[in-house]
Amino acid sequence: MSIERLIANNRVWSKAKTEADPDFFARLALQQAPEYLWIGCSDSRVPANEIVGLDPGELFVHRNVGNLASPQDANYLAVLQYSVQVLKVRHVLVVGHYDCGGVLAALRRPGHGVVDHWITPIRELAIHHRAELEALEPERRRNRLAELNVARQVQHVAANPLVLQAWARGQGLRVHGLCYATENGELRDLGGSVGSPQEVKERFGSDVGAIDAS
Ligand SMILES: [Zn+2]
Repeated sequence: MSIERLIANNRVWSKAKTEADPDFFARLALQQAPEYLWIGCSDSRVPANEIVGLDPGELFVHRNVGNLASPQDANYLAVLQYSVQVLKVRHVLVVGHYDCGGVLAALRRPGHGVVDHWITPIRELAIHHRAELEALEPERRRNRLAELNVARQVQHVAANPLVLQAWARGQGLRVHGLCYATENGELRDLGGSVGSPQEVKERFGSDVGAIDAS
């Protein structure tokens, strides 16, 4: 597919949008006010807005291989800070997907690419859950690891100082874990969303970010 075709597709799309709602782009130009932050995988089969039927302006998006919310990733932290403190999103959605190449690679012997470094947290998670995962058939094994990875990233987001500070300020913010099935297009809520330090403690069995050393 040539770039010219993409530009032509874009003109058709923008024309259709404008015909359906003449003020659509004028409104967006003034302000974006999304309710949701999406943290998802870079996989081309998992396009954020399209899957959940949201328009431009409704979803703030961060994507990387394996939908990681790594506490040391400056890109993720910048997105999280802006979306929580400035846009004041109400929901953070950690969205994994079944049949994820990043998750599958984390189950295999590491190669030498940068991506092998990037997915180290998923590899560590697999080792942590080795007994459960090894009891499963290969396909179920990698899909279960995708779910475990989502839960782990939910835990990361919920333990992030930016989120803890938002909760301390009384800001309404929930963190959810979801998984998308590339085979049928269905998004599944994995349950166990958290919206306060108390809920984090109930779900994950630990306080967030505090071991009192005094
Ligand atoms: Zn993926």
